[in-house]
Amino acid sequence: MLKEFKDFAMRGNVMDLAVAVIIGGAFGKIIASLVNDVLMPLIGLALGGLNFSELAFTYKEAVVKYGVFIQSIIDFVIIAFVIFMLVRTMNNMQKKEPAPAPAAPTTKECPHCFSTISIKATRCPNCTSQL
Ligand SMILES: [Zn+2]
Repeated sequence: MLKEFKDFAMRGNVMDLAVAVIIGGAFGKIIASLVNDVLMPLIGLALGGLNFSELAFTYKEAVVKYGVFIQSIIDFVIIAFVIFMLVRTMNNMQKKEPAPAPAAPTTKECPHCFSTISIKATRCPNCTSQL
């Protein structure tokens, strides 16, 4: 049982998943902070000192916090944009890897019989012409 669990926990993809979850969580905090602490005050300022999280109206006993909803939409757009830029940057980096140079030609065409022969040949093996 214990050995089975160890085998499971030590499998590469489980470790990769753990790393992805931890990095993703930390990354999510950075994005949330960027949105909540940097962008939203500026957006609120641009809209005349509006604080989205305080936008709400009361209908009977229900408090409709539509400001929080708007903020969630803005969060999503910003996160989607950041992810898009990240993926785009990584794609560009992958494309910049130098493509393997086309292989130098190793054959040529005999001018007398037009058969394909070695580029180093000085005499055609097919028609015996001097090249
Ligand atoms: Zn030839």
